[in-house]
Amino acid sequence: MQTTLSSPATFEGTGLHSGAPVRVVVRPAAAGHGVVFRRIDLPAMPLIPALWSCVEVTPLNTRLAHADGATVSTIEHLMAALAGCGIHNALVDLDGPEIPILDGSAAPFVRGLMQAGMQRLSAPLQVIEVLREVSFVEGLAGATLGPATSLQIDFEIAFTDPAIGRQTKTLNMANGAFVRELCDSRTFCRASDVAAMHANGLALGGTVENAVVIDGANVLTPGGWRHSDEAVRHKMLDALGDLYTAGAPILGRYTGHRAGHAVTNGLLRTLFAQPDAWRWTTCDHRIAARLPGVGVSAADLAAVA
Ligand SMILES: [Zn+2]
Repeated sequence: MQTTLSSPATFEGTGLHSGAPVRVVVRPAAAGHGVVFRRIDLPAMPLIPALWSCVEVTPLNTRLAHADGATVSTIEHLMAALAGCGIHNALVDLDGPEIPILDGSAAPFVRGLMQAGMQRLSAPLQVIEVLREVSFVEGLAGATLGPATSLQIDFEIAFTDPAIGRQTKTLNMANGAFVRELCDSRTFCRASDVAAMHANGLALGGTVENAVVIDGANVLTPGGWRHSDEAVRHKMLDALGDLYTAGAPILGRYTGHRAGHAVTNGLLRTLFAQPDAWRWTTCDHRIAARLPGVGVSAADLAAVA
């Protein structure tokens, strides 16, 4: 069955790139609505669906664009929270161009969504079943989707910075694994990149409070990493959020190698350009038992945050 929230969930914070304050209200929505953003600060209040076909490629975040030019930036951590909590329908109102960065992870979104509660809707859920392997490569980065009975994410990163180095992790996303293992992992960046971005008017809201800032072998953010492999966990969080722009849960195995937002969007575009590589499948109780949000509870979140 499809789901939505039981009541609205509100989040207030600062945009990572704009540095501007923003208020977000995630509202319940009917079956078949999907996840749709609405810029309530603009006169026309444009509706922007959270779909791969509306994603504009940017190096730093996932941005949705409307035909009239309105955009919503940095959707990926909220999208990961919605995917990981198993929420299929929501209207996301925001009064600015960017979802707030909060602590740089998805944990505050998960906490707020759980407090709002979830309800089942009387409509069957369609899921996207991957039938054969598809890949997308860009330079040294790449990603693959192949058949699997649940959503699995395998990820590898390799940084020359000793504070990160090479990290790998594999996770079956079924049954709250996202909430227990990934949702509190924060975005990360180099101190030198922060300075360069600030000089170019980017990441104006970026601080050591909402990202793990590293410098060589050192972690400048007070308290250091939340997990020894927090960096790869965050990349998996980003991948889950970006994959949710497919418009439905995916049954497939995602393998990412140094992949960022643009690579995952390229992978979805590749998948949907090949009609024999996937199909819609009505979610029965066997499939439902393997979806990311099934069985998730506040106790899963308490374990991490
Ligand atoms: Zn991220």
